[in-house]
Amino acid sequence: MAQMKNILLTIIILFSAVISAQNKIYRAEEEKINDLIHTKLKVDFNFEKSQLNGEAWITLKPHFYPTDKVVLDAKSFDIHQIKVNSVNVDFNYTDDELTIELDKIYKKGEEYSVYIKYTAKPEEVKQKGSEVIKDAKGLYFIDPKDEDPNKPTQIWTQGETESNSCWFPTIDTPNQKTTQEIYMTVPNKYVTLSNGLLKKQTENGNGTRTDYWKMDQKHAPYLLFMGVGEYSIVKDSWNGVDVNYYVEKEYESVAMDIFGNTPEMMTFFSDITGIEYPWDKYSQIVVRDYVSGAMENTTAVVHGENAQQNKGQLIDNNELEGTIAHELFHHWFGDLVTTESWSNLTVNESFATYSVYLWFLHKYGKDKADAHMYNDVQNYLQSQSESKDLVRFYYDDKEHMFDPVSYHKGNAILHMLKDYLGDEAFFQGLNKYLTDHLYGTAEAHDLRLALEDVSGRDLNWFFNQWYYGSGHIKMNVTYDYNTINNTVTVNINQQGKTFKFPLSIDIYEENEKTRYNVWVDNVQNSFTFSFTKQLKLINIDAKHVLLAEITEKKNLENYIFQYKNAPHYLDRKIAIEEIAKHQQDSKDAFNTILKALNDPYYELRMLALEKIDLFQKYNKKAAISKIENLAQYDKKTLVKAAAINVLGKLIDPIYKPLFERGMQSESNALVGSSLTAIYLIDKDAALKKLSTLENDIKENLADAITTIYISEKDKTNLPFIARHVLKGMFLTQNKRTQQLYTEGFKWISESDNELAIINLTDEFVKFGFKYKRYNFDKLGVNMLRQMVDIQQQSSNQNKNELILILKTGMAKLLE
Ligand SMILES: [Zn+2]
Repeated sequence: MAQMKNILLTIIILFSAVISAQNKIYRAEEEKINDLIHTKLKVDFNFEKSQLNGEAWITLKPHFYPTDKVVLDAKSFDIHQIKVNSVNVDFNYTDDELTIELDKIYKKGEEYSVYIKYTAKPEEVKQKGSEVIKDAKGLYFIDPKDEDPNKPTQIWTQGETESNSCWFPTIDTPNQKTTQEIYMTVPNKYVTLSNGLLKKQTENGNGTRTDYWKMDQKHAPYLLFMGVGEYSIVKDSWNGVDVNYYVEKEYESVAMDIFGNTPEMMTFFSDITGIEYPWDKYSQIVVRDYVSGAMENTTAVVHGENAQQNKGQLIDNNELEGTIAHELFHHWFGDLVTTESWSNLTVNESFATYSVYLWFLHKYGKDKADAHMYNDVQNYLQSQSESKDLVRFYYDDKEHMFDPVSYHKGNAILHMLKDYLGDEAFFQGLNKYLTDHLYGTAEAHDLRLALEDVSGRDLNWFFNQWYYGSGHIKMNVTYDYNTINNTVTVNINQQGKTFKFPLSIDIYEENEKTRYNVWVDNVQNSFTFSFTKQLKLINIDAKHVLLAEITEKKNLENYIFQYKNAPHYLDRKIAIEEIAKHQQDSKDAFNTILKALNDPYYELRMLALEKIDLFQKYNKKAAISKIENLAQYDKKTLVKAAAINVLGKLIDPIYKPLFERGMQSESNALVGSSLTAIYLIDKDAALKKLSTLENDIKENLADAITTIYISEKDKTNLPFIARHVLKGMFLTQNKRTQQLYTEGFKWISESDNELAIINLTDEFVKFGFKYKRYNFDKLGVNMLRQMVDIQQQSSNQNKNELILILKTGMAKLLE
């Protein structure tokens, strides 16, 4: 599963304390009494009631000990009939568990078949003990009665963690594996998607069609999938394997821009794992109202609707690319070899997360990969999860395993492991791990054993520290110079837990760099190095591979040298941030920021643009001409847009033609920043332009336009503002944006504009649903309650209607 994009850092910080309660139940791998072998399903759908009519033929065998019964998970079913080997049998159905008496005692290796005729009622599912996803109902009907003109009718499923037993009877644990066949009967106008190959389609003559999907390779029950809806299927391929993209019709023309790198990723992941993509097709489908970011259902990956980006967004940046890599890599780590328990989720999710780094490195180079890793590490550091082990045997709810520790921290840990072992040993170790457990399950120790076997090194210390332990390295670094002996002593002082780790130190004498590799394994460690020429910089963790918080003292001169000489993305990023603070009083500082405007990595060019101070005494002219140049000729539209933002703030009419040209661009970012810039020079011209824009173009430029509307206190556009205000309040880390949007929010709260109140309430419900993991539902209820109070005290004539709307939203969030 991929997490939601743009994780709400604000919300994590506010609410993670609520989530971190610890439970004392030891969460072991589920005992295997019976093993699934095969699952055959025949289903059709009751759109009126949002129910599924099903027949299931489940083939099983005792795992080891003889048994005369089988217990299946089946949540909120009506059971109509059960047979074992074609004979009716007794059963007991309570508490979402179906206990079936077999016709005799079965021994190890003896297969039997259970037939179940049932109705699945997903709307009645109540998952035991799950606070986080109260509605983990497995099977979702979207606008099933076609009542919403803005929503297509769709059906889709979400199995992870244990929700597929809401639509078919199974043993719903990750340590079971089954092959499958599904017959899905649907109205003719819909297409279907499931795992494996579409073997046959039969017209039934009554307006319906039955699609027969079959997969001969076994996989875990949570990976079974069904999707139904009206889609364009855009066809691609890889080495003779069908690769398909299911998108809504209007996105057919951009499907290749969104998903088109998939085949190249399949080649890359096949190469690095040494195991050719093992499944018989690869489809990706975009669904409405999805409950997570994306899901790696075997050969039938689901993406949420934010996957469907328009051309203007895609020109700026394909936000989905990392998620596409993540779900694809699960087809090795997760689908082919599956975690034996949710406690060991790292063997699925940390690898899927790390695949994005590996793909970016391969496709776009080290800077982009390193920038991505840095963001992942920040995500972990800000999540207040220092007390959580990566492999966690104690948790309240299995859903809590899908957190920044399993994803982002695990990713950083794999990165350290690869650095410690070297690429060759690391990837050969992964190959051994996968090969040893092909179509089976594994735990973190299996990974250790495979890597130990290949490398010949003991890794207990590493796994005990990073997999079965918590926290990360925190060190303070000081230097003692001995000018008589020409030596420097680097003192490493660890705070909190003492970690053991290899440390790379680069020492720069003049422009000459020497790399030293040392081991740190104590609270205090000192290392002495000699030098002959002038010392310019000591770069600690020069490879930037450690999951560490490092405090050290460097002066401006060090940072300027660092920007110019140290190669890593982080060396340059940190240097730009520090140097930017001194632009008012240091010409060297200003000139270094000026130089950073031409940094080879585009995000650092954007950072320099954000930081450059044009209101100081130095070479302003040269700076401006460089920025003009970026605004016109940079190869990344995001950099052009950032440059226009800077020029816009100069409020100089000379740039109006440049901004007007920017308005003609295909890039959303460029049009947005140009519009904002025109607004700053000539409000009327900008507002006039704005009023002529088509609605769908306005949606593309929502950030820029909402900002203008709020700044203008433009009441006629309150409903538009209402639809975009939460994003500016919670999805950005820019303080000024947060303040402005909070003003917009207050303004809507006090207004009597019914449509604006409806839109804002809908947004709270949407956000609450989407970001439940971060307790946004609770935040939403509180904020809606505040809005009710404000209305109650207001003199708005229609306040009773408005309060009713707000309370209905609260009730939805509390469901
Ligand atoms: Zn995942």
